[in-house]
Amino acid sequence: MNLRMGVDLGGTKIELAALDESGEVRHRERIATPVDDYDATLDAIARLVATAERELGARGSVGIATPGALSLATGRIKNANSTWLNGRALKEDLQARLDREVRLANDANCFALSEATDGAARGAAIVFGVILGTGVGGGIVAHGRILEGANAIAGEWGHNPLPLPRADDHPLPLCYCGRRACIETYLSGPGLAADHARASGERLGAAEIAQHAAQGEAACVQALRRYAERLARALASVVNVLDPDVIVLGGGLSRVARWYEDVPRLWRESIFSDEVRTRLVPPAHGDSSGVRGAAWLWNRP
Ligand SMILES: [Zn+2]
Repeated sequence: MNLRMGVDLGGTKIELAALDESGEVRHRERIATPVDDYDATLDAIARLVATAERELGARGSVGIATPGALSLATGRIKNANSTWLNGRALKEDLQARLDREVRLANDANCFALSEATDGAARGAAIVFGVILGTGVGGGIVAHGRILEGANAIAGEWGHNPLPLPRADDHPLPLCYCGRRACIETYLSGPGLAADHARASGERLGAAEIAQHAAQGEAACVQALRRYAERLARALASVVNVLDPDVIVLGGGLSRVARWYEDVPRLWRESIFSDEVRTRLVPPAHGDSSGVRGAAWLWNRP
């Protein structure tokens, strides 16, 4: 069996899935992340790999989906919200533990690769994978490969400013990164909640706003309208640069069904083309995209 193991190293759980050559999951295990303990994190991953190989009776390749990014300058993890990983030589340390070459990519890139390889964007040449969750991230896959970029930030559109603010975008929110009106401050879950609170005085989480909107509550319907219009504006600027065949949405906010009709109608006025062929689609693999994309890091030589 040609075994590919993907490990999703998250802030609260570590999950391993072992895929066979057809992409079918042959083994899966999920454990709690040893928070704030780097050595225990390495041990936990090594145990997951050993268990999978014992169960399946085969040795396989290992790919890791990490938070943050690999710094090309230092070869170490940076920008991870699991802060005990920052500054660590995770790739080298895992290679030593596992006695093989390991490939790493950040979780947004793994999401994009998963959906481009055998998910909602299968067969598409250029894919932009978008995470709309606690934060806003993104990854680009071109012809089956992750585009890393010179700074390892390709696709990270969340800290660009929202294009051309409109009246109801004001006052421009301050982002934790120090800039104002970052896309993330509007389109993350907390961003949606804050926008709804500003407009209505009502404190609801993003999932509750979506539920209340589905029940017809006017203020929540308006919040989703504003969100869809901002998402369209923000994605249009990506389309004008990257011109992807498919944009796949992921993260908690990708579950709102109306985006897939509203946004392609709304982005037409901001895309510099008379005809727009780019498709906006929901994810096929949902929460499995981290492990699947990590496994597919070994899909190519
Ligand atoms: Zn920012």
